[in-house]
Amino acid sequence: MSQEYEILIKKIMKFVEERDWNQYHNPKDLIISLNLEAAELLEIFQWKDEKEVKQVLSDEREHIEEEVADVAIYLMEFCNYLGIDLYEAIDKKIVKNGIKYPVNKCKGSNKKYNEL
Ligand SMILES: [Mg+2]
Repeated sequence: MSQEYEILIKKIMKFVEERDWNQYHNPKDLIISLNLEAAELLEIFQWKDEKEVKQVLSDEREHIEEEVADVAIYLMEFCNYLGIDLYEAIDKKIVKNGIKYPVNKCKGSNKKYNEL
């Protein structure tokens, strides 16, 4: 785990503890909250056509960043609760995905692994 990650997770947990929110931040509610924040991120793009999406990407940049942070905060807190090393989990998953999606079979293709 990187030092920056450790510092961030400590900040998040301090924020939660100071407000006595540990009692509410159980794995179920953390993952529900993560998904609700992901939905808030989705909502920014709802009903937008390609041109409007481009506009939203610049006009709503700060809002997008805030929702991304909300998702990441809940993800980090969820991982912390379960003792998951997020960096290690991502590393392992990239290796697994590489086996699932070998470059020679999927380069330039958007097909799912079972259709390659
Ligand atoms: Mg939000």
